[in-house]
Amino acid sequence: MNQLSRTALFASLFKDVPEYRARQFASALFLPYLSGFEEVPGLPKAMRETLQENMRWLSLEPAQVFQGKKGDTHKAILRLSGGERIETVLMQNARGHWTVCVSSQVGCAMACTFCATGKMGFTRNLSADEIIDQYRFWLGYLHARPEIPQYISNIVFMGMGEPLANYAEVRTALNTLLTYTEIGPTRITVSTVGLLPMLERLLDDPEWPPVRLAVSLHSADGATRRAIMPSSYDAFLEKLLEWTGKYFEKFQSRRRHLTFEYVMLSKVNDSVRHAEALIRFARRVGKVRINLIPYNFTGEVYRDSLPGDFDRFEAKLREAGVQVTRRRTMGDDIAAACGQLIVEKTSA
Ligand code: SAH
Repeated sequence: MNQLSRTALFASLFKDVPEYRARQFASALFLPYLSGFEEVPGLPKAMRETLQENMRWLSLEPAQVFQGKKGDTHKAILRLSGGERIETVLMQNARGHWTVCVSSQVGCAMACTFCATGKMGFTRNLSADEIIDQYRFWLGYLHARPEIPQYISNIVFMGMGEPLANYAEVRTALNTLLTYTEIGPTRITVSTVGLLPMLERLLDDPEWPPVRLAVSLHSADGATRRAIMPSSYDAFLEKLLEWTGKYFEKFQSRRRHLTFEYVMLSKVNDSVRHAEALIRFARRVGKVRINLIPYNFTGEVYRDSLPGDFDRFEAKLREAGVQVTRRRTMGDDIAAACGQLIVEKTSA
């Protein structure tokens, strides 16, 4: 990944052009009706030609695209310049707009035992351009299908990879998306396994944008969490609690935006005892939203919670006054649901 970023390449190609040209270039990348540099409005022909010769319009290309039966989920396998493949998903949300789910790494080093990506291991970080281009790929995809809704309203960093393990590129991608799309920070969610050093870092980072954060908790019992998430450790929950204190202090008005994700695994973390541990932990944290995720089969030892167990768990939380939501499962017919994103490591 020693390639220059698009911004750096532009600067090296055009040393003497006025600054507004760089902005023109950067914003043209987000025009849904464009598919190459030859059509960029407002740029002189010579510049467009130089760009065409030296830069690819998209840093990745579609290898395969799948559409779920209901038409509300689309998944693309995209091939990167080195031949590696990643996945990105387009899902229709409750408002009838689209949510784009992006990957931040090829593979993942966190090895969560219930996650398909976790099993493939880590290959490399994505560049900011490669992250942004997943969104740009869907822009073009929608534009070519005028019969379906066009508007992408949300972006979630919930595809392959641990976003905070690729901090700098993810931050650049976030800031670029916030600058050149209409999507605001409360419509972007970064989901993390809970990399505490990075969570600490973003609190004091003036360049980290105020996007929403979701922490994959999956158990408020230390031993259970350690057993299912090898990146966890004994003191994790106490340290996370401390961090949330600092987070709320810093972002009073944004306190609602902290979410704990909780994938419901039958007989692993869905008992009354686990619900009680979660209630205690959520109370200590304060204003946090628990998002219960139905487990999507990834072909190993786990089973999804039985409907009765799931309902009982959710009801217990609700009765205790804990804010709780249940995630809809989408795209499981095309293996596009959470934790099902895997592509073989061999490059095509
Ligand atoms: N590395 C990030 C993003 C992971 S994907 C993180 O850990 O948060 C987004 C969510 O899907 C995470 O909460 C992840 O734990 C969850 N997930 C992983 N595998 C899953 C599965 N098989 N079924 C349901 N959710 C899963």
